[in-house]
Order: sequence, then C-alpha cells, then structure tokens
Amino acid sequence: MAAGTLEQRFTPLVILVLVATLVLVLGLWATGRAKEDNVVTAGPAMEVGRYQWKMITTWPKNFPGLGSAAENFSRYVDEMSAGRLKVHVYGAGEIVPAFEVFDAVSQGVADAGHGASYYWKGKVPASVFFTTIPFGMNAQEMNGWFHYGGGLELWREAYAPFNLIPFAGGSTGVQMAGWFNREINSIEDLKGLKMRIPGLAGDVFAEAGGTAVRIPGGELYTSLQTGVIDATEWVGPYNDLALGLHEVAKYYYYPGWHEPGSMLELIVNKDSFDALPEDLQAIVTYAARAANQDMLDEFTARNNAALQDLVNNHGVQLRRLPDDVMLALYRASEKVMGQLVAQDPMAAKVYTSYKKFYDGARAYHHISEQSYINARDQVIDAPTE
Ligand code: CA
Repeated sequence: MAAGTLEQRFTPLVILVLVATLVLVLGLWATGRAKEDNVVTAGPAMEVGRYQWKMITTWPKNFPGLGSAAENFSRYVDEMSAGRLKVHVYGAGEIVPAFEVFDAVSQGVADAGHGASYYWKGKVPASVFFTTIPFGMNAQEMNGWFHYGGGLELWREAYAPFNLIPFAGGSTGVQMAGWFNREINSIEDLKGLKMRIPGLAGDVFAEAGGTAVRIPGGELYTSLQTGVIDATEWVGPYNDLALGLHEVAKYYYYPGWHEPGSMLELIVNKDSFDALPEDLQAIVTYAARAANQDMLDEFTARNNAALQDLVNNHGVQLRRLPDDVMLALYRASEKVMGQLVAQDPMAAKVYTSYKKFYDGARAYHHISEQSYINARDQVIDAPTE
C-alpha cells in the first residue's frame, strides 16, 4: 500500500524528469544542428556533419590550367572527405565579377576563392609579394619561401584584417613577357604602349613609359582585338593558346621578367574554415597544397607542346626582349619597389623577408639549378666526336 502510494507519488515525477531530459537532449541537438547549419555560410545545408562551400574564381569557368587548380582542389577535398565537404566552383561573373572575389569571400558571400593576390594591391599593397614581383623568385624559390621561409605566415598576417586565410594556390612557373602588336627593339618602343599588365609590374611598366591596364583574363581577347590595349601579358604558351591570344597579336615575347614564378592564391573565409571539424580543416589545407603543386606539374608538362603549336601552326613570331630593355625594366623595378616599401609598413616587412630568402636562394642556385642547367646544355649540345 505504502509502495503503491510512493509509486503514485513518483510516477508523475519520473515522467517529468524524462520529459525534461528529452527536451534538453532535443534542445542540445537542435543547437548543434543550428550551429552546423550556420557554418554553411553560402550553400544550402545538408545533413549534420556535411558541409557545402561556394568557391568563386577570377577565371572563366572550366578554364584550363589556372582554372583547373580550383577544380582539382574541389575534387581532392571531395575524395579525401568522402563527400563530407563539397566545394562548388564558380567562374568569374557567375556570382561576382573577377575583381570582386576578394571582397566577396571576405564578407562571406562565398566560402572560398581562387585568383591572384596581386589583383588586390590597391587594398593590400604587400599582396604583390605573394604572387610575384618583377625580377623576383621563380616557382621553386617561391614554394620554398612560402612553406619553409615564413612567406605564408606573413601572407596570413596581411589578410587577417579581412577575415581571410590564404593558401598557395598553384604556380605557373616563369611566364612569357606577353603579346605585342609591334616589335620591341628598345625601351622607346614601350612608350605610349597600352598594355594589360597587373601587379607591381604594371607600375614598373608605367615607370618605363607605358600605360598599364587592369583587365581580367576573360576580357583580354576582345580588348586586344578591338584596340582597347596594344599588348597584353597573360601566362605562358599553354594558357595563352587556350585563350586564343595568337589570333589578335603577332609577336610573342620572352622571358617573363614581370612574373618569374607567379603563385596563385586560394583564399578561405575564416568563419567558414573555423566552423569545420579539425579533420576537414586538415583536408582543406592538404588539398590546397596538392592543387598548388599540381599546377606547376601541368604547366611544366604542357608549355612546350603549346609553344611549338603556336609557332609552327599559327605563325606566331617568337622574340626575346633585348638586354637593354631588360636592364631598363630592372632599373624601373628597383625604383618602384623603393616607393612601395617606403609607403607601406607591411610591404616593407614582407619585402625584408622576401629579399633575405631570395638572396640566399639565388646564391645557392648559382651552384645548383643554374649551374646544372648550364652544364647540361654544354654537354648535351656539344658536338659529337
Ligand atoms: Ca600573367
């Protein structure tokens, strides 16, 4: 009887505790769910533990070479995460125009972006060092500086105020000096020339007497065809052939003094990155590293065949920039660099790190890469006895 009374007394209490526990558990689940939904800043939510990112790029959609780094990154992430993180890649103009990628990712309109840091030099003057500078480091040296010489840490410091985490996003290797509609025989020939040439090289070109214009890749063909510009640089034979630039300019100059080892960027909105579990963060990090290396591999494999095609099948006139033009451009580069580091403390800080690494790499490459390339030409091209 007493037990019955107790049971009667406690049953409502037990039910109350059970209901309260259930409410608490559901509440926690809903909070967790909402949190996971919130991390999907730009894409529709999937089930719990799965994420969707939007990645915008400064390249035309499905553009070979430069564009494939973004596609490769997306594929690597998908495969490594077994589909838990899907990265949807958009070409220039699909969500925002090419030159709004930085702001859009910074503001969370998209979770990630792929482009080149020197496009943002008006906003972050130090950003030129993270793509390339005239007469600066080649691809191998840039990768060394970024990953073992403090370059990447400085880049993260420079982008931190914009809520962005940058990664090295692929290197083209040394580029071509560009496409011209007339021959360049002296520095005088650059005077009054209107050329698409971004980054610090644009300032150098202006210092040398030309007019530098900022145009995204997807608009170069038409700009050159309609005479909006007289010359343009883009990348190298493989990517330039894909853009059809040989159809609108005849002279193809080398070497790419202005872009000796251009490094592209992969930027991630910090909130989107922080919201991922640690294993997906690691996957993003290493997928970026793999996509970075893959681009250099692809350009190394494809550039020469493309150059042969341009010269042999399309009548392209290959020319080397004269030594005195190179020297004049170098002198102009030194002047422009001096102005940049005097005006911007962060640029000065990055330049100090860049230069120290470059001096060391250049000294060592005298007896390693450079010495070997000279030696192999000497013996391979030596007359047979
Ligand atoms: Ca270029």
